[in-house]
Amino acid sequence: MALRLGLPLRDMEMVQFHPTGLLGGKDTRMTGTVLEEGLRGAGGHLLDGNGRRFMFDYDEHGERATRDIVSRGIYAQMRSGHTTPNGGVYISMGHLGADNVRNKFRGMVKRCADCGFDLAGGRVEVVPTAHYFMGGLVCDPDTTTELPGLFVAGEDASGMHGANRLGGNGVANSTVFGGVAGDVMSSYAASAGPHQDPDETIIEAEISRALHPFSKKPGNVNSLREDLMDIMWDNVGVMRTAEGIKRGIGQIRQLKAELLETGVGEFDTIFNVTWNDWLNLRSLAETSEMIAQAALSR
Ligand SMILES: Cc1cc2nc3c(=O)[nH]c(=O)nc-3n(C[C@H](O)[C@H](O)[C@H](O)COP(=O)(O)OP(=O)(O)OC[C@H]3O[C@@H](n4cnc5c(N)ncnc54)[C@H](O)[C@@H]3O)c2cc1C
Repeated sequence: MALRLGLPLRDMEMVQFHPTGLLGGKDTRMTGTVLEEGLRGAGGHLLDGNGRRFMFDYDEHGERATRDIVSRGIYAQMRSGHTTPNGGVYISMGHLGADNVRNKFRGMVKRCADCGFDLAGGRVEVVPTAHYFMGGLVCDPDTTTELPGLFVAGEDASGMHGANRLGGNGVANSTVFGGVAGDVMSSYAASAGPHQDPDETIIEAEISRALHPFSKKPGNVNSLREDLMDIMWDNVGVMRTAEGIKRGIGQIRQLKAELLETGVGEFDTIFNVTWNDWLNLRSLAETSEMIAQAALSR
């Protein structure tokens, strides 16, 4: 919304990857679900497809290095070809004692079991996963933006974490600045005077923008969404090159054009999940292009 309004955005390319997203294969939507940092903190090992512990090749802190270092280490290891059956690496906790792991990490053990993995005693396939967005709207510390009456707090805002958020500071950011926004907005509302009349031309333009997919022949929105994920992972992912980013931008633009020609079936605006997916995908594609452009500029 801010991008469409032309408001200034900052650090849009700064996407934090969490090193250990569950890798459950193509048949489950659990892939990418985070396996918590505490597993590495407690002494979990990361092993490549050959069972070799590799993180000390990349950093003296091994698995306990920061998220960006571990994510890059895993990604480099994956590129070298020593991967697990699904193309990632393993996290292994068994050496810490299966009962101990079960007691300390009950939720994680259950999550892995749901995907057929034994976290307590065996190995679980993991892969870096897009986790947190450091970029966002430019705002002042009191959450005001360039647009009077628009306030921003939490992950949509930018500048609180620099280029690399430390674990645990995300919720703090959202709650602290959410509280600030509440105070500032109530004073603003009390002093801002009566509402302005809405601009009918803007409303009409937004309605026609939203209804666009009903005017097109139905297509496969989900497969386009998966294409976008692949484009971003391959070209604008954990490790980036100018050449790859440019290729990514070209592919995103192509996908956006394809999406605009893809419809969602019969006109039905009530609880229409496909329509919702279409609208989300359009925003995702626009944001993806912005991430890639910002990365290229940097
Ligand atoms: C798997 C995972 C684990 C995490 N673990 C931690 C952790 O342990 N510690 C930590 O500090 N941080 C953690 N984070 C980060 C932290 O949880 C988030 O940064 C934080 O919750 C973001 O809060 P928010 O209110 O800014 O945004 P959100 O929680 O994303 O809230 C935005 C809300 O807006 C709604 N919304 C979106 N579009 C619209 C629309 N058009 N109209 C109306 N509503 C809309 C969404 O449905 C959502 O409810 C984690 C993040 C993830 C993904």
